[in-house]
Amino acid sequence: MMTNNEYTSSIEYYGNPREPEDVMTMLQRLAQEFEEDTEAYLDQEEDEEEMSQWYEFDAYQDFTDSTAIYPPEKGLEYTALGLASEAGEFAGKVKKAIRDNQFDLDAMAAELGDVLWYVAQAAAALDVHLSDVAQMNVEKLKSRKERNTLGGSGDER
Ligand SMILES: [Mg+2]
Repeated sequence: MMTNNEYTSSIEYYGNPREPEDVMTMLQRLAQEFEEDTEAYLDQEEDEEEMSQWYEFDAYQDFTDSTAIYPPEKGLEYTALGLASEAGEFAGKVKKAIRDNQFDLDAMAAELGDVLWYVAQAAAALDVHLSDVAQMNVEKLKSRKERNTLGGSGDER
C-alpha cells in the first residue's frame, strides 16, 4: 500500500495524471525515455562487443607469455630477431612455392602464426597491449583511407 509521501513523490515525478493533457505529455515523455534508454543500452552492447574483439588480442598475448622461454632482460632484442627470422621463414615458403609451383598453404599459415607470436611478444617487451597495437594500426589506416593517403610512402602520411 502506498503511503501519502510515496503518492506525493510519484505525482511530483510523473506530474498530475488527472489532467488529460498531462497524461499524454507523461506518456510521450515515458516513451521518449524508453526509446533513449533502449538506444543507450544497444549502444553500450555494441561498444562492449567491439571491445571484446580487442580483448581477444590481449588473451592471445597472455598465452604467448606462457610459452616465452627467452631471458626477459633480452626481450626486445630477442623478439626483434625472432620476428625478422619468422618473416623470413614465411617469405622462404612463398619463394619455394614459386620455384616448385607447389603452395603449402598450411606451412605458410604456420609461419604467419610464428610471426604473430613474435609480434605479441615484441609488444610485451615494449610493455604495450597487443590490442593497443591493433587499434593504433586500425586508426592509422582509417585516417589514411579518409585522407586518401593509403598509397605513397612515409610513416607520418
Ligand atoms: Mg617458423
